[in-house]
Amino acid sequence: MLGAMQDWTMRVTHVIDHAAREAGTREILTYWADGTETRTDWAGIRRDALKMAQALQKLGLNPGDKVASIAMNHARHLVSWFGVAGMGGVLHTVNPRLFEDQLEYIINHADDRVVIYDAMFQPIIDKMKDRWPNVEHYICFDSGEHTTAFEDWIGAEDGNFEWVEGSERDPCMICYTSGTTGNPKGVQYEHRSTILHAMAGLQPSALNCMTSSVYLPVVPMFHAASWGLPYAGAMAGMKFVFSQVNDPAVLDMLMKREKVTDSAGVPTVWLAHFQYCDANNLELPKLRAATIGGSAAPKFMIERLMKNGTRVQHAWGMTETSPIGTVGGPTHDWDELSFEDKVAKTMMQGRPIFGVELRTVDLDDPTKVLPRDGETSGALQIRGPWVVKRYFKAEEDAVTEDGWFNTGDVGMLHPDGTLQLTDRTKDVIKSGGEWISSVELENAAVGHPAVAEAACIGMYHPKWDERPVLFVVKKDGQDCDDKSIVNFLSDKVAKWWLPDAVEFVDDIPHTATGKISKKDLRDRFSDYKLPEA
Ligand code: AMP
Repeated sequence: MLGAMQDWTMRVTHVIDHAAREAGTREILTYWADGTETRTDWAGIRRDALKMAQALQKLGLNPGDKVASIAMNHARHLVSWFGVAGMGGVLHTVNPRLFEDQLEYIINHADDRVVIYDAMFQPIIDKMKDRWPNVEHYICFDSGEHTTAFEDWIGAEDGNFEWVEGSERDPCMICYTSGTTGNPKGVQYEHRSTILHAMAGLQPSALNCMTSSVYLPVVPMFHAASWGLPYAGAMAGMKFVFSQVNDPAVLDMLMKREKVTDSAGVPTVWLAHFQYCDANNLELPKLRAATIGGSAAPKFMIERLMKNGTRVQHAWGMTETSPIGTVGGPTHDWDELSFEDKVAKTMMQGRPIFGVELRTVDLDDPTKVLPRDGETSGALQIRGPWVVKRYFKAEEDAVTEDGWFNTGDVGMLHPDGTLQLTDRTKDVIKSGGEWISSVELENAAVGHPAVAEAACIGMYHPKWDERPVLFVVKKDGQDCDDKSIVNFLSDKVAKWWLPDAVEFVDDIPHTATGKISKKDLRDRFSDYKLPEA
């Protein structure tokens, strides 16, 4: 028997309706790549989203159809989040830093029918157009120099449109992750999962979004739905300050002038900001809180921000988890802790927000669930309503029989629920927030005539968090040096994938099944320091 409460389908259109109704005049500022600025508000975002939904229907798009965006952070991109969902479509936010093969794969795999992009990515469009046979329309968020301009396109509509209804389990966004081996994998966020995730993100112990917040998300809108901030921000009715460029001088100016209270991004972003302020003898902006995630936030960064009066919310998550899993913040005993203890706690990855559950299991025997004792380390698993069940178009579920998703991260859980990551089982390296496949580097390296075996692991780097180091066993009787290996790799992988160092070793450790044991390799070189780091 049902209760007697009102029907309310969890669709993200409720989010923009609420923002426009309750915080209609709260500002959304954009700093554009050409140095100009525009200001709109939540009511304006909704008005444009209605026009966009109408315009998409006129192009012949139907509910379930996909629209790709290749764009940085700005108000028009925000419009497209609600415009696409509002006509029942699915927005595919594309990471413009992916390689051509990956870009070809994901746009075709997602069956995108429309691509909307920033003018700065015109070279990508020119190169890729022929490789995307199913894309029917191109629209440019900026000007219409090469194709239809977004403003002209939606400007032709009157906005007299009713949001398309549907199930709350319909997808509204798809994000691909390249943080796995093989082809990128698509994760489809649902209307329902998106709303639940954003509501959980609003909590003071999570992203801390409030009506009074002035938020500058540096995390790109193409990275895991910008951590859900556009939705959480609309729910809170907060002010957004967007920048189409990631120049620390611009970010610093905006943070100070607009009295930004909160920001979110990967650690590399803060490092660039520190360097800019130091080089120009400027104080850091006085933010209330900085959410740092995507990679481990280093100690010196946490210390410096905390000394500046900024609370550091160290978050962990994945594209597969919408992405928020855990967020760090003041614990119940915070005021009694010394500064050092606060820093030590903040270096851990925080506690799960309501809605998701974490557990660790034995690395060799995944049926064995490990104690939450802050000592026993194992494979991290997660489950909850905003965690992937099955990748887009995959034949099989991505979770265990009892619904747990294996994250590929390794760590321990403390008795108070705090997650502490220590390692990773997946064969990928995260440099400045972007993935490098160690397996691809190894496969390319063994093509070198003098290389018998190669293993690649990420080593700590103060700027990029991790950089690849290649360990090489030479073939008997063959000789080569590090330069020859890097040269050999240089036309096989992207420049920023090239290893920072090549180390020659007599042997590489293996597991019982004969696979390279990255764990043993990392243990063996635990004191390793990158040449210039
Ligand atoms: P992505 O899907 O690109 O967002 O990457 C998710 C992965 O980034 C996680 O599985 C972790 O390996 C890594 N990651 C995210 N946040 C953190 C963090 N706070 N500390 C360490 N690693 C992190």
